[in-house]
Amino acid sequence: MSIVMSALLENLNDAQREAVLHVDGPLLILAGPGSGKTRVVTHRVAHLLEQGVRARQVLALTFTNKAASEMRNRIQSLVPGEAVWVSTFHRFGARILREFGELVGLAPNFTIYDTADSRQVLKRVLEAEKIHVMGYSPDRIAAAISSAKNKLITATDYQARRGSPLSEIVAQVYPAYQQRMLQSAAVDFDDLLMHVASLLYHNPEVRGQLDNRFRYVLVDEYQDTNKAQYVILKALSVDHPNLAATGDPDQSIYGWRGADITNILEFERDFPQVRVVRLEQNYRSTKCILRVADQLIAHNTRRKKKSLFTDNEEGRAVRLVAYGDQDLEAAGIAEEIHAAIERGERRASDFAIFYRTNALSRSMERALRAAGVPYQMVRGQEFYGRKEIKDVLAYCQLANNPHDDVAFDRSVNSPTRGIGKKSIERLNLHAYRHGTSLLEAARQSPSIDGLQKRAVNALTSYVQLIDEVSSLATDSVEAVIGTVIEKSGYSKALRESGDVEDQSRLENIEELLTDARQFDEQSEDLSDGGLEAYLERTWLVNETDDWETEADKVTLMTLHATKGLEFPVVYLIALEDGILPHERSRDTAEGLEEERRLAFVGITRAEDLLQMSYVRMRDYRGQRRMAIPSSFLMEMPRDELEMVDARSNDLDFFVDEYDAYDVDEPYEEPSTQIDLPKPATPKTPITAHLKTAAQLAGSGESAQRARVSPDEFALGMTV
Ligand code: ATP
Ligand code: MG
Repeated sequence: MSIVMSALLENLNDAQREAVLHVDGPLLILAGPGSGKTRVVTHRVAHLLEQGVRARQVLALTFTNKAASEMRNRIQSLVPGEAVWVSTFHRFGARILREFGELVGLAPNFTIYDTADSRQVLKRVLEAEKIHVMGYSPDRIAAAISSAKNKLITATDYQARRGSPLSEIVAQVYPAYQQRMLQSAAVDFDDLLMHVASLLYHNPEVRGQLDNRFRYVLVDEYQDTNKAQYVILKALSVDHPNLAATGDPDQSIYGWRGADITNILEFERDFPQVRVVRLEQNYRSTKCILRVADQLIAHNTRRKKKSLFTDNEEGRAVRLVAYGDQDLEAAGIAEEIHAAIERGERRASDFAIFYRTNALSRSMERALRAAGVPYQMVRGQEFYGRKEIKDVLAYCQLANNPHDDVAFDRSVNSPTRGIGKKSIERLNLHAYRHGTSLLEAARQSPSIDGLQKRAVNALTSYVQLIDEVSSLATDSVEAVIGTVIEKSGYSKALRESGDVEDQSRLENIEELLTDARQFDEQSEDLSDGGLEAYLERTWLVNETDDWETEADKVTLMTLHATKGLEFPVVYLIALEDGILPHERSRDTAEGLEEERRLAFVGITRAEDLLQMSYVRMRDYRGQRRMAIPSSFLMEMPRDELEMVDARSNDLDFFVDEYDAYDVDEPYEEPSTQIDLPKPATPKTPITAHLKTAAQLAGSGESAQRARVSPDEFALGMTV
């Protein structure tokens, strides 16, 4: 055995080693959080390479760009050499479609529309086809189309269901939408998977070719795959069924995007000779944290019980804190973090704060700023989603794909060129009648009846600009974007505007140039640069893309973004009814179970310390509301939690939300449906375990610092 190999196997337990050493044939690794699933994936790739498998025969798939790049780096550090292709499913889909997309009617220079752009297309279709939407919003219709795509129901296969008005609308809209997308040489995110699945299904030679190319396919976070992803994986594993999937059904949190836990069951059915490995040791969290997580998830009925143990320390009790309102919650947490950093106990990057939705981060940010604690909010999409950035990129998009009507619409009048609404309408009509793109119609504008001379002139110079940008496409991306900004008059218009906001738009555009320059620099080495590659990067962003993992800052992120991550100290805020579980999901058993899994994912990110909190009053979505603690809190083991009441001293204000629940009632396994805990006569209210701020006031602790045991306080239990 080589030195590399023995070092590689040294840091693995027996079960992990079994999975890593497995070479040929299907493999399924089912295991709980922190048990080393991701570690097994990287080590297994390293082992394959050590066994002489060529790097280009290996394909590793995961869900975020960040996870992919971490995995890539990890593999590189284990076995330096030719890089293995580690990708997200969507990037993989895009790459395959650039190569084979014509088989499904897609030009190779296609554009990927984000949600806003594809919604634009949908609205246009609804208007053009004069479809009566019966009060259904475009978002609802889009969600139904997306759900069909994730289940691989194509526009031609889609059938309206009797008694479902929405499905009748979708049956009309979906084919027209799909046709319009293909005409614009555009795809939405779901198409990236559906087109690939469809092309693999209908083209056996291509399927065989790719199956042969990717001899070893590995998937992390398998529990979040949907039908389309499963079909792709299966298609790549017919002649060389070396598919290895790792996942944890208890961490499936993308049901709303079509993730389907039955993929795991199907895996075992489709590959009967599969080797199943279970990992049972958790290396991440303390015993206390694991017990709380375990008891919470035990309330899900649709699951297989797993055993998970850890040799880690018992650790501190998980803290559950009640605050007066979100500002006190935020200030309390910020102050604790600040104090721990001041004491030299921890670094800012040890801390993470998780919440259900981005809207909950505002007070937290304010408080961290006030406390002088460095932090970063992880919410990726923002930069490329800004209006000015999208406007500038639209020129590039159109230069890359002249059929892209959304890009035309966006760029033709920004900055304004004196092309009126009427002229645009005429252009649209002309394009519709002649079956051409809007750019082509603009090219023909001198011969279109009823267009004003002024509009024709403006359109002609606009078309010239797009042609010029297109001729630059082989240049550096920075040069392309620089040309757009200057020659379109976009930066001039912003420079000349007196509006303060326009100044910050100008700064953002300059930032875009820097971004492009960095991309050019990076891609010189990777030899996969160019405008299209750059655009693709701006289209396929994830929430965690801009997360600086090396920076010494507190991380703030939504629970959905925390997949696969770990932090020494975790704060889980706003554990309140309607927030977690989210009001949209709590009314169905499936929805509620997925919310519980989301809480489980959050809890199991914590290594040493975990604090969960809720407040009495919360300003949320423009309303100040009395908040009710999350029903999930009642499901956690009472004696594992250290409960702290950090609410107002004013006892009159005290509303013991917990008293609404019969907390001592043993949990009964629901038969088919899960009901929320019913309000009942309180027996021993949970608040009996809490000391109020007022009680603790005498012990010298401040209201916000009120804790159960002054001894613990003295020991510096503030993380
Ligand atoms: P999740 O389900 O949250 O994605 P996971 O199962 O992928 O978790 P990893 O992230 O691979 O777990 O591992 C969790 C932590 O445990 C990591 O810090 C990893 O380095 C460490 N770890 C895994 N296996 C071992 C081992 N055999 N010895 C020591 N540390 C380990
Ligand atoms: Mg993992």
